[in-house]
Amino acid sequence: MSRKKLIAANWKMYKNPSQTEEFFREFLPLIWGHERDEIVVCPPYVDLQAALESAKESGIAVGAQDAYWKDEGAFTGEISPAMLVAVGCTHVIIGHSERRQYFGETDDTVNLKLKAALERDLTPIVCVGEVLEEREANLTEDVLRRQCLRAFHAISAKKAAKLVIAYEPVWAIGTGKTATPQMASEAHVLIRGEAAKAFGEEFASALRILYGGSVKPENAKALMSESEIDGALVGGASLDAKSFAAIVKY
Ligand code: PEP
Repeated sequence: MSRKKLIAANWKMYKNPSQTEEFFREFLPLIWGHERDEIVVCPPYVDLQAALESAKESGIAVGAQDAYWKDEGAFTGEISPAMLVAVGCTHVIIGHSERRQYFGETDDTVNLKLKAALERDLTPIVCVGEVLEEREANLTEDVLRRQCLRAFHAISAKKAAKLVIAYEPVWAIGTGKTATPQMASEAHVLIRGEAAKAFGEEFASALRILYGGSVKPENAKALMSESEIDGALVGGASLDAKSFAAIVKY
């Protein structure tokens, strides 16, 4: 099964609208005509409009870094999938480890957010991954199984069609440490197995599983050459147009 790779930028809490425009001015000419992979940029909410304007007709998609699970209501500070669709977003990151670590995101809220994003036809990029203590205690498999099982709870294969998973070992995020291509592949096989249990073999073989954790121009090729790795979720190295372009063109 050939799966088109997806290279996603997670800008975290960096850049304002004018810096966003500046990024695209530099980035677009560098990747012009690149059709091999899908590219999506996920800036902070306040930059979405600038990103969408800048990326217009470039083939680059724009996504958000989170979304709440209700359409609207008295939920101060939250943004709904419906609102993201209304401004033109097509993707949303769900359950990033920084949200789990600092903002109380749980496997259950990930499930609610995933259902809401799918309901609005967004492409959800659901993040899973173990922390260092869990890897050292040989708990990686248990953690990934639990995170997948709970995230996929009560979702049909038909509804989940657009699902994308990002395997992000937490010890590799922003640390400069990268999982070896083999470590990542092993985790991806396990995640694909969980997807097969939840949604069936056919679904699982079409499912894109990205790797995230200190992806850089220097290691992108080795990671992307693994048949199990269907793209990358890139944090730090996506903030610079030249370095993100080099990753896209691995
Ligand atoms: C991320 O934020 O999802 C990420 C993988 O960050 P970094 O590339 O900086 O490790």
